[in-house]
Amino acid sequence: MSDDIKKDEVLDQSSDKNKDQSSDKKQYEDICYICRRPESKAGKMIHLPMNNSICICSDCMQKSLDAMNNSHFNYSDMMNQINFQDLFNMPGMGQMMEDPVPKSQKIKKRKPKEEQKPMIDLKNIPAPHKIKAQLDDYVIGQERAKKVMSVAVYNHYKRVATNTMDDIEIEKSNMLMIGPTGSGKTYLVRTLAKLLNVPLAITDATSLTEAGYIGDDIESVVSKLLAAADNDVEKAEQGIIFIDEIDKIAKKKNTTSRDVSGESVQQGLLKLLEGSDVEVPVGASSKNAMVPLVTVNTRNILFICGGAFPDLENIIKERLNKKSSMGFGADLSDKYDHVENLMDQVTVDDLREFGMIPEFIGRLPIIFTLQGLDKDMLVKILKEPKNAILKQYQKLLALDEVDLRFDDGAIEAIAEKAIQKKTGARALRSIIEDFMLDIMYEIPKDDNIGSVTITRDYIEHTGGPVIQMRGVGAIEQK
Ligand code: ADP
Repeated sequence: MSDDIKKDEVLDQSSDKNKDQSSDKKQYEDICYICRRPESKAGKMIHLPMNNSICICSDCMQKSLDAMNNSHFNYSDMMNQINFQDLFNMPGMGQMMEDPVPKSQKIKKRKPKEEQKPMIDLKNIPAPHKIKAQLDDYVIGQERAKKVMSVAVYNHYKRVATNTMDDIEIEKSNMLMIGPTGSGKTYLVRTLAKLLNVPLAITDATSLTEAGYIGDDIESVVSKLLAAADNDVEKAEQGIIFIDEIDKIAKKKNTTSRDVSGESVQQGLLKLLEGSDVEVPVGASSKNAMVPLVTVNTRNILFICGGAFPDLENIIKERLNKKSSMGFGADLSDKYDHVENLMDQVTVDDLREFGMIPEFIGRLPIIFTLQGLDKDMLVKILKEPKNAILKQYQKLLALDEVDLRFDDGAIEAIAEKAIQKKTGARALRSIIEDFMLDIMYEIPKDDNIGSVTITRDYIEHTGGPVIQMRGVGAIEQK
């Protein structure tokens, strides 16, 4: 009787041990027995049939098979000759076969990312005004750009959802954004992709060259998107690709050599913009023998191109002047020098004159401009968006139970400094970081500090912030 109980206990313990081991295995990555790379690097492992805990990555398996083939090696003969029972009975071998990798060399698996719930359901895409309202929470101004983008995205995903291939095929809504640096081009696209919860790849057109030349192949933009979609082809095929600095691939004027980073890149992008099957390397920017290839269809990928097009304004001015300087009603030639938002009057012909080839512009049917940011807009950008920069710093200091305030003069001073830098809203962060460094360094030293007010004087280096102790009046720091 007592023997039976003991046996049961032993059985219980061993099943517990098994459970422990299997849960342990789930927590750790498999490691290739030959090259020692973990599953996350080497890809899926092949478990050997004779012992499930020994595994080999597909690269090593392939290499071994190749080696065997080359030397006319007979695999089955070898397997028949090995006596696995003896192998297990060798001293120390049983333990090793059970768990070939010591625990200290194992890598813990990453926890799978929690699936984010999309704010916008692609199958049930909301009306454009609702998309715009969501953009309004983050992006200040640029009303027309937000409106155009909301409608284009709405139409695009409707086209994806219906997926009809009948006589009336809805045209793709690829876009071209024209706007000065720091006006929010990238930010708009990023926000849109986040709202839609679709993968987004951002590339610089200047890094692209015709295949075979130094630089990234044009198809690398699609492999970036694939990486952003965690190598899920289906997800990538509904994503967004943003190509920045598109004006830098304008056709070079007066050149006799092959234009590998200008016109050729535009030519190469044509078939991607239009929609075609492309073979892209997984996890690399160019094709080579070592990387696997996968086919991605770009038909439903939304392409958004952006650029500052610096000389475009002169081209528009020249065209308008030419038109009005003919005949009796000729105008003065500097009539358009002080017209605001001249860029809004851009036409396809102006873009062609700039150096974009007609087939390329033809595949970007939605063209719109973004305004340069003025002082008022910069002030709003500092204060209003859901994740405004000032709100971020306030939150950081609130964690130290310090109330951070900016008076109106200070905010205006920051905006004025940013305008001088001529890099749009991009300058704001560096200006703020510059003076916030001291605050973030000094404030946590003293637990009694209750609030800090940033003033115009502090921004202009003519005074200090106003610091208030808990339960005491304000003190201005010099
Ligand atoms: P670019 O037009 O050169 O692509 P970005 O989109 O990179 O400019 O803008 C730089 C930063 O400025 C963004 O990360 C964002 O924080 C801020 N920003 C620019 N424009 C706006 C805007 N209209 N509303 C809110 N923030 C903006």
